[in-house]
Amino acid sequence: MRTIFESMEHAAAIGIGGHVRPDGDCVGSCLALCYYLKKKYPNKKVDVYLEYVQDEFLFLPNSSLVKQTIDGSEKPVYDLFFALDSGDLDRLGFSEPLFHNAGRTVNIDHHITNQGFADINFIKPEASSTCEVLMDLLERDLLDTDLATCLYLGMIHDTGVFKHSNTTRHTMELAAVLISYDVPFSKIIDETFYQKTYLQNQILGRCLLESFMVLEGKCVVSYVKKETMDFYGAGSKDLDGVVDQLRVTKGVEVAILIHETGPLVHKVSMRSNHDVDVSAVAKQYGGGGHVKAAGCTVYGTIYDVINNITVHIEEQLKKLDTLRS
Ligand code: AMP
Ligand code: MN
Ligand code: MN
Repeated sequence: MRTIFESMEHAAAIGIGGHVRPDGDCVGSCLALCYYLKKKYPNKKVDVYLEYVQDEFLFLPNSSLVKQTIDGSEKPVYDLFFALDSGDLDRLGFSEPLFHNAGRTVNIDHHITNQGFADINFIKPEASSTCEVLMDLLERDLLDTDLATCLYLGMIHDTGVFKHSNTTRHTMELAAVLISYDVPFSKIIDETFYQKTYLQNQILGRCLLESFMVLEGKCVVSYVKKETMDFYGAGSKDLDGVVDQLRVTKGVEVAILIHETGPLVHKVSMRSNHDVDVSAVAKQYGGGGHVKAAGCTVYGTIYDVINNITVHIEEQLKKLDTLRS
């Protein structure tokens, strides 16, 4: 089988796609690979496809070149197409047709639910982030401040600034190499991870205020309606971090944030503190993720969604002997 490096050498046009509602690891890994390829092969065509790039990530190199739609009526055909940080093919969203049209495909990811849908697959569920998987693949002598910044950004976003249990010695060793390239890490951590807009704080406050405990206080649930989001003029990206704040509620094993995205359509985000495997729950609804952070889209009324999801959590808590009754 041709290696990833041979495939890169032979390709004249390379496409890169990340998942819908791109987060820091998704944007960081896509722009890191783009930067690397452009530096190594200045004459090749390299395009990145993402649904959007959040304002706070616009300082990253090549972010202004990201394509948010497919140009023209004729879909471009890439010799090589990379799917990054996407646990499933349909997570690519609008760029999925480009993956199908490509001569050769590569899948670089760390989602435990990833089945390996490309010609060449690098899936490391034990890695903190796709940026970590990517850094292990790339030639180190091409590292510079810009490339290191993209990779570092992805790592901090998926590890919650090196605090989630997906942070390993290897993650820290890679991060140590990255900061040696003069990555402005304090600024990046503050301005892309902790800083919230006034609007985001208002929505966070509302979600916390309206949250409720179920399953003997082992599970906290919050729900945000589409009309509330519309009232604030907010989008899904403004909910980043809400479920993580719910997770740190004392005594809670699982936190759930349900976001109504359309009539009878709900995006569910779950976080687990200890032994509950939320990726197994997400998988039941066609979603995926990691053992301690997963998501899915569930159809039905809010009551159906809450009942259905919490039943799965309850089953696991019972198996783990965590519930009294
Ligand atoms: P979120 O709750 O959206 O922050 O997602 C938590 C983790 O689960 C992330 O790694 C996502 O990539 C993954 N994830 C979220 N939603 C889905 C989905 N519908 N299908 C597969 N993976 C998902
Ligand atoms: Mn992601
Ligand atoms: Mn990731």
